[in-house]
Amino acid sequence: MTATGYYVQCRHPVMIIGAGPAGLIAARVLTELDIDYMLLSREKVPGENKACAGFIPSGALRDFGIDTLPGAHPVTTVRMKFPRQDMQTVEFGAKVGVNVSRANLGMTMLKHVGTGSGEIRLQTEVGQVTVKQSGCELTLHKQGQSEKLTSEIVIDASGVNPVSLKTVQLRERLPDHLMGYTAQYQMEL
Ligand SMILES: Cc1cc2nc3c(=O)[nH]c(=O)nc-3n(C[C@H](O)[C@H](O)[C@H](O)COP(=O)(O)OP(=O)(O)OC[C@H]3O[C@@H](n4cnc5c(N)ncnc54)[C@H](O)[C@@H]3O)c2cc1C
Repeated sequence: MTATGYYVQCRHPVMIIGAGPAGLIAARVLTELDIDYMLLSREKVPGENKACAGFIPSGALRDFGIDTLPGAHPVTTVRMKFPRQDMQTVEFGAKVGVNVSRANLGMTMLKHVGTGSGEIRLQTEVGQVTVKQSGCELTLHKQGQSEKLTSEIVIDASGVNPVSLKTVQLRERLPDHLMGYTAQYQMEL
């Protein structure tokens, strides 16, 4: 244990932050390549808190090898309504994808990842990413406990303003005034 009270260990050459579609696809590819990794997600169920219309194109499902998604509804038509515009309807004439809850998508993608070469830690938040000469150091928080882990490579898939931008200036954070705000509700059919 260090003077700060953290453990510093290096267990996996690759750390993936975030279990959205990007993080889960990265994990699946690393599993297929038999490369050792750790996937970290602050959610218990990947995607459960994500505001999303939930349309998944058929091609994306094929790419990920997903045949069935629980609670998925086929999509053949899309209707869109923008402020001060009439409702627009696009009829595709055939199924072009499905509509699904992000939690169901997240759990299905998680099952398809497999765990051969990886370790998956849910309900674990990455607080900080620090780049050092020896590698990247991640500060993790889970249920009031903190831990530091080092890794050679970090795949930061934690969303539009990824956590690593706090300390690593790869690009500017998208400012709040350029972000959209979303309210989401689900209707029982
Ligand atoms: C309103 C709205 C509607 C949309 N509708 C559609 C649609 O119908 N179809 C479609 O294909 N796309 C849609 N999108 C886009 C889609 O949601 C994104 O393209 C997609 O979620 C991006 O995936 P991602 O894996 O990059 O990031 P995310 O899905 O944002 O995943 C990031 C993950 O990282 C986790 N995370 C974040 N910070 C940390 C941290 N510090 N530590 C640990 N974990 C962390 C989050 O909990 C999250 O699970 C929509 C987006 C919005 C905003």
